[in-house]
Amino acid sequence: MTPAATSALGFVLLGPPGAGKGTVAKLLARRRGMIHLSTGDLIRAAIAAGDELGRRVEDVVASGGLVDDDTVEELLRRRLESTAGATFLFDGYPRNLNQAERLERLLTEAEGRLAGAVALEVPADEVVRRLSARLGCPVCGRAYNLITKPPRNDRRCDADDAELVQRPDDDPETVRRRLEVYAEKTAPVLDYYADRERLHAVSGVGAIEDVYERAAAVIEKLLTENTGEER
Ligand SMILES: [Zn+2]
Repeated sequence: MTPAATSALGFVLLGPPGAGKGTVAKLLARRRGMIHLSTGDLIRAAIAAGDELGRRVEDVVASGGLVDDDTVEELLRRRLESTAGATFLFDGYPRNLNQAERLERLLTEAEGRLAGAVALEVPADEVVRRLSARLGCPVCGRAYNLITKPPRNDRRCDADDAELVQRPDDDPETVRRRLEVYAEKTAPVLDYYADRERLHAVSGVGAIEDVYERAAAVIEKLLTENTGEER
């Protein structure tokens, strides 16, 4: 799945919370050799590097603030420059129209381009079902999921038998609100890619392996088209 071209190719992975985006992205990275870029990972890596930019990011995070668009762009630019000619998978970015336009520019600067945006689609009821199944241990922090990773004993931690709790974020009503916020914020991003005929919807329903296969098939096809054009 390595493109014949030497320029960078980018894919954007979109989807609501609970769509399995992170898992699918990790599988694509491991099995298809794509470079998985999530802003969270970039921010952690910058802090770990400890240079001037990293210390600035650390100050923002430590004070509970959000890392601004300019800084995220700088982190992305460095990452793209450090790995020429790779196939990148952007996860959790862009979150708004401004970021979508910035990403386009960054890829152009890196002599690459965006090959496509893949949107995982999951009905709201299914997202609520998935997220409200998540439980955590208040003692050791272990994560469980009543559907995919249940504890051995009913709602008790395997390690310390503490009673498992739900994150306040994951109760059904809050999940629905989070989905509304997500839809409102990302609608312009979806429109942006749809207008440019680069939006590819993939069903996010079912087993994660199936979702992965669907996403990988779309990406494979787009890679072939994109590398073919350059010959
Ligand atoms: Zn525990």
